[in-house]
Amino acid sequence: MEFRLIDRIHARTAQVREDVRLGIGDDAALLAVPAGQELAVAIDTLVEGVHFPHGTAPADIGWKALAVNLSDLAAMGATPAWALLALTLPELPAAAQAARVDGLADGFAQLAQAYGVALVGGDTTRGPFTLSVAVHGFVPPGQALRRDGARAGDLVFVTGTLGDAAAGLQRLAPSTDPDEEKRRGFLRARLNRPQPRVAAGLSLRGRASACIDVSDGLLADLGHLCTASAVGAEIEVERLPLSSALLGSCDEAAAHDYALAGGDDYELCFTVPPALAGEVQADLARLGCGATRIGRIVEAPGVRVCGTEGEWLTPARRGWDHFADDAAR
Ligand code: ADP
Ligand code: MG
Repeated sequence: MEFRLIDRIHARTAQVREDVRLGIGDDAALLAVPAGQELAVAIDTLVEGVHFPHGTAPADIGWKALAVNLSDLAAMGATPAWALLALTLPELPAAAQAARVDGLADGFAQLAQAYGVALVGGDTTRGPFTLSVAVHGFVPPGQALRRDGARAGDLVFVTGTLGDAAAGLQRLAPSTDPDEEKRRGFLRARLNRPQPRVAAGLSLRGRASACIDVSDGLLADLGHLCTASAVGAEIEVERLPLSSALLGSCDEAAAHDYALAGGDDYELCFTVPPALAGEVQADLARLGCGATRIGRIVEAPGVRVCGTEGEWLTPARRGWDHFADDAAR
């Protein structure tokens, strides 16, 4: 189906890997899993209007569709290798469709090449604009980072900064203030071009007791980690890593809300025993993303947040839905 579109994608995503015995063009790809490795596989779907706004540049969509999947592999401590792309496209005039597909493929290929990921197949159909990407990576047996290994006393860390993407989504409109527009540019780039923390995930292998990537918001995803580990966590709001662009674009309370519950961050949230914290933090600083200690693991279930005055904040009290208050700046 859609041979010309598939050809366009194929031509723009020519990443050569020795372990791809047969790539795009047959009924299935043939792939050689390295001896002695486990295969880590993940799939994520982006739907227009749900996971990216209408009007997003095709190259940004193609990048993000792969990035969110590489983020899942990063959170497992896996080395990315192969990807599949199922593309659902609404009708468009031929030239516009070709331009859209070229943009999607170019954005996808840019990130794929950065990580040596080969696009080995996919599917192309008509329908509401949707991309499903499946990724495959390798991890030595028993060394994958999982959600279920956190223990009371472990420290909770997060890579990079939180809340930028969610704030960027609220600031798609250009600002007439050049300084604010510069900040919005940074926040929108964090929304549209997330950088999967692959090197950080590999560095955490054998050291992090648990790991998850932050896609739905820190509180939700740390909550998943805690549930899987049968523990709880205490987070200090003042320790949340916030970019200067975020802090410049909204007040501190709104920045905290974006960081706690905004989502689309694609940073890694992980736990380490205190004895390993220093070396892990130094290594991630060297890798460029850095890691910030935001709290600790406790026995009591649930994620509790300690506010700036030392008071306990609870989702019920705060609502975690404060995006209306600063959207118009
Ligand atoms: P089939 O009918 O056997 O599923 P298709 O016509 O759907 O074959 O696909 C032909 C080839 O092109 C297959 O190798 C498939 O994996 C690949 N392909 C189709 N769509 C895409 C896409 N969006 N991205 C990458 N490869 C694709
Ligand atoms: Mg098919």
